[in-house]
Amino acid sequence: STKPAEKTKFGPLKDEDRIFTNLYGRHDWKLKGAMSRGDWYKTKEILLKGHDWILQEMKDSGLRGRGGAGFPTGMKWGFMNKPSDGRPKYLVVNADEGEPGTCKDREIMRHDPHKLVEGCLVAGRSMGAVAAYIYIRGEFYNEASNLQVAIKEAYANGLIGKNACGSGYDFDVFVHRGAGAYICGEETSLIESLEGKAGKPRLKPPFPADVGVFGCPTTVANVETVAVAPIICRRGASWFASFGRERNRGTKLFNISGNVNNPCTVEEEMSIPLKELIERHAGGVIGGWDNLQGVIPGGSSTPVIPKSVCEDVPMDFDGLIQAQTGLGTAAVIVMNNQADMIRCISRLIEFYKHESCGQCTPCREGCGWMAKIMNRFETGNARPAEIDMLYELSKQIEGHTICALGDGAAWPVQGLIRHFRPVILERMKDFEAKQPKKATA
Ligand code: SF4
Repeated sequence: STKPAEKTKFGPLKDEDRIFTNLYGRHDWKLKGAMSRGDWYKTKEILLKGHDWILQEMKDSGLRGRGGAGFPTGMKWGFMNKPSDGRPKYLVVNADEGEPGTCKDREIMRHDPHKLVEGCLVAGRSMGAVAAYIYIRGEFYNEASNLQVAIKEAYANGLIGKNACGSGYDFDVFVHRGAGAYICGEETSLIESLEGKAGKPRLKPPFPADVGVFGCPTTVANVETVAVAPIICRRGASWFASFGRERNRGTKLFNISGNVNNPCTVEEEMSIPLKELIERHAGGVIGGWDNLQGVIPGGSSTPVIPKSVCEDVPMDFDGLIQAQTGLGTAAVIVMNNQADMIRCISRLIEFYKHESCGQCTPCREGCGWMAKIMNRFETGNARPAEIDMLYELSKQIEGHTICALGDGAAWPVQGLIRHFRPVILERMKDFEAKQPKKATA
């Protein structure tokens, strides 16, 4: 295989290397169609190889969590590999996809649900779990219904349930629908909600691997992460690791939305340059590349980057961290020069203010304050000194809260100030110029 460190060119991905072969729903998503595309092939053999083997494959593949944090999957699933004092272990799949701009998991569940069901079985086996709970966003009605059909088919064909795939391993899969709260995508909040309580994040420690759902060891994993586990086991860790570059392996689903000619969801090789991703798959920026203003590269929580950075930045964890943003959920939101950048970020802060669960003061109060200031920045009715004040306020939220929602609200503001300060100042000047002149004595 290609030595990733020497690789200089990434993408386009060949058709035979695509994992999500029914991404656009062109084929039958039910069991027959899924099997014809290679799902459930020799799953029994994978299960019989045992949990240590599956974990090692995950580690060797270099797979990192696809939900946003990018934690190494093999290591995370390995945290379950310890005595549980007789308590059952659970896999919880985070399908509460609510990050603005993000709809990759929705496409998997809608068009390729068997990939996720098989993934639950393989991931569950790697951690000795007895069952998987798929916690799906309440608004995803059709996806929940497709998943339920896929699960029913899998039970009816002996693929899950007692003696799953004839392996001697018992494993159940349940679907649980959420009720429309963004915060339930945070893992401990999701667990609370699954237990029937209000979705408010828990303090950590204890971590879910020690005390998770119903007080039992639990791993919460993203849909895409779980869904790629079977094919990694089938085609081999080295195959998956041949895509992308060091520490950023594999293929990845990207959502491209905003001011592009052809918004889409696409699977591509990790580390593909942002410009290539947009031009190859989304038909380019409306008005051409020169008309680009900035891009939010990984869902609403990742700071916006200006055009000058967008050209070559590799779409992976490390490349985007270097650019002072993040891969997040890999939801690329493109804004051209016709977009009102201040308005866009202000709208996001309103979202975070609305979705804050209110448990911690910096997030509850801070999001409200940021929203108020951003509203005034939108019209220009503010003083230049307030730009630094807003930045400082965002710094008081970042890292001072129970969960990452506070950080997610602070980062877009920081990105705006870092790169678009002249735009904010210009707006203030325009506002000032429109004010009636004060009469002089
Ligand atoms: Fe709730 Fe916000 Fe605190 Fe998270 S950071 S626990 S959403 S108040």
